[in-house]
Amino acid sequence: MTYANWLNTHFIKHKAIMEQLVYKNIDEIIEYFDYENMRLKHPEFCPLYATNSKCHYMKNLNCYMCGCPYFRFNDDGIETKENRMVYSICTKGLGELFESENAIHQDCSNCILPHTKDFIRNHFNWNEIFCDVRNDV
Ligand code: SF4
Repeated sequence: MTYANWLNTHFIKHKAIMEQLVYKNIDEIIEYFDYENMRLKHPEFCPLYATNSKCHYMKNLNCYMCGCPYFRFNDDGIETKENRMVYSICTKGLGELFESENAIHQDCSNCILPHTKDFIRNHFNWNEIFCDVRNDV
């Protein structure tokens, strides 16, 4: 699956849950997206739930912002750097790079920023913050 496909599919799943939560306030919605609650109520939301594993080793992992508004990607490549194709970057310069002979990818495995409640509260409008993530549209 390409990242574009994943993002589109994830957007649909996220939207369907949000439609069930229209009577909750922002803090209640953020609480609802807590990893433990989501694993119980929406096991289909993430393949990691089935194995009780997490994308980041952190307490109180929140799944509201699976993906990150600072992430940029293009499945066809963003730019060429030192003869290698750059497929993804962080606009804040956070995280690390995963580099192979032909490709450079953003590696966010040590960055927990979008999974913290404070960050989510400050960037709650999912539609708005994710509109720039795709670099190919
Ligand atoms: S934030 Fe991590 S655990 Fe939660 S849905 Fe996304 S990948 Fe799965």
